[in-house]
Amino acid sequence: MKLKTLEISGFKSFANRTKIDFMPGITGVVGPNGSGKSNIIEAIRWVMGETSAKGLRGDKMVDVIFGGTDLRAPLNRAEVIITFDNTDHYLNSDFNEIQIARTLYRNGESKYQLNGKVVRLRDIHELFMDSGLGRESFSIISQGRVERIFSAKPEERRSIIEDVAGVFKYKQSKEKAEKE
Ligand code: ATP
Ligand code: MG
Repeated sequence: MKLKTLEISGFKSFANRTKIDFMPGITGVVGPNGSGKSNIIEAIRWVMGETSAKGLRGDKMVDVIFGGTDLRAPLNRAEVIITFDNTDHYLNSDFNEIQIARTLYRNGESKYQLNGKVVRLRDIHELFMDSGLGRESFSIISQGRVERIFSAKPEERRSIIEDVAGVFKYKQSKEKAEKE
């Protein structure tokens, strides 16, 4: 599974539609302070189903929408589209290419699409479940996160390890079976 492209429009400092093509190998993002490097990582987390506005350095989720500058009026909509090459079917889907789009309007209206089809947030979470890319995984480590992993309570640390090891789906079906 590989990250192919990321398209950002109206999200945080990315007022204009910006498309990033990821080449094979390692990608580095460089730029002055405040130029939007962290916003790129946040766009990736957001489109993959991040639900915490605080985790994206905001108060409310609509804070991710471009809020305007001295030269430019605020926008009404944020959209991020991420495309993965899934020819190895690492992600739990039959598709060879997976495209996720998330859109949010200032009135709070929001939408997720998976390969062009409107889906629930749950479907996005299920796609990444046990992939090691889940919400609480450490495939994305933000400033301060390393320390939090080390100082996490044993149960929290265990759930991180479980996500990487891929046992979460078995736990869920066990719980479901127990209820039935
Ligand atoms: P550093 O090197 O300091 O870590 P960075 O390149 O990671 O910087 P970011 O934190 O990604 O920079 O970007 C911060 C910029 O994004 C700030 O100028 C901030 O005003 C802008 N920004 C954040 N949210 C919005 C928003 N909703 N609308 C417009 N601009 C925003
Ligand atoms: Mg930064």
